[in-house]
Amino acid sequence: MMPWRGVIEEFRKFLPVTEQTPVVTLCEGNTPLIRANRLAKRICPHVELYLKVEGANPTGSFKDRGMTLAVSKALEKNVRAVMCASTGNTSAAAAAYGGRAGLPVYVLVPAGKVALGKLAQAMAHGAIVIQIEGNFDQALSIVKDLCANEEFELVNSLNPFRLEGQKTAALEVCDQLGRAPTYHCLPVGNAGNISAYWKGYKEYRTAGQIAECPKMMGFQAQGAAPIVRGHVVEQPQTVATAIRIGNPASWKLAEQAVAESSGAIRMVTDEEILDAYQALAKEEGVFCEPASAASVAGLTKCSQAGLFPEGATVVCTLTGHGLKDPDIAVEISPKTLTVKATREDVLALLRS
Ligand SMILES: *Cc1c(COP(=O)(O)O)cnc(C)c1O
Repeated sequence: MMPWRGVIEEFRKFLPVTEQTPVVTLCEGNTPLIRANRLAKRICPHVELYLKVEGANPTGSFKDRGMTLAVSKALEKNVRAVMCASTGNTSAAAAAYGGRAGLPVYVLVPAGKVALGKLAQAMAHGAIVIQIEGNFDQALSIVKDLCANEEFELVNSLNPFRLEGQKTAALEVCDQLGRAPTYHCLPVGNAGNISAYWKGYKEYRTAGQIAECPKMMGFQAQGAAPIVRGHVVEQPQTVATAIRIGNPASWKLAEQAVAESSGAIRMVTDEEILDAYQALAKEEGVFCEPASAASVAGLTKCSQAGLFPEGATVVCTLTGHGLKDPDIAVEISPKTLTVKATREDVLALLRS
């Protein structure tokens, strides 16, 4: 078998690239789709549950799938630099792929609201990181304005190539399962990913690769749930910083995706998100970041409400790696214990 070549080469015929497109890849994609029986037994015993572990991508989130395409197309266009606003993972991916392409990368992030791992990545890969005293929505609005003059290429998910790249996750799920799932659950922030998956599923159906598409289930954090509430949230609040967004760029597309697929967008509390986050790590061995766990928190809620029919196949996308945000894991886990360096002291502790 040929080694995996990254999503552009693997899904070339579904993507807007030509022989002239210089491919900038870190061999992203081909992430694990794993069965989650222990978790399913507890939270949704009548469904077949799978986790699509996107934290296994090169920079630790699904953003790599979109960034390989966005940066390749930016290079093809001969842009001077790339720019994005970010809650963290877009900046990490832009910094890595931009660096690999030899392009300067500028990122605007909300000051003090980016998980440490993500900030570290953007800095390590050499991006110019500008922290703004505001939120993501304000950062995006500034970046859109600056990119309008064409000098900088916008690599947020408003860039259509981002969604084209991200749709490959849906194609992979189908290839891995041998069919489409009945339901697909994922967190919703700027709403690009749910839109991209839906596009991917529809194109695979048109190509005859799958017979039916799944119902798309998106989950927002209760303090940052503009789509569920039907209005912009000026001051979005949630522990899940990657989905701390009050005015999603792909709002319309996401609503279309759930309408066309007979799915829904609902909300989950921070407490439910953190419960799912801990359960995934403890019961399934999968360490994801809090935002990612919104998919499983939503699944739990919907299952309790009796939404899923017996025998349904559900895939939850876990969007980013837990190591991105080590502070939260340390904060909410039981404290570690320290004793003197003797056999007796350790034994005494084990027996206490
Ligand atoms: C970007 C991101 C999201 C949100 O995806 P959208 O496409 O903005 O809805 C969720 N989780 C993680 C880890 C992310 O990096």
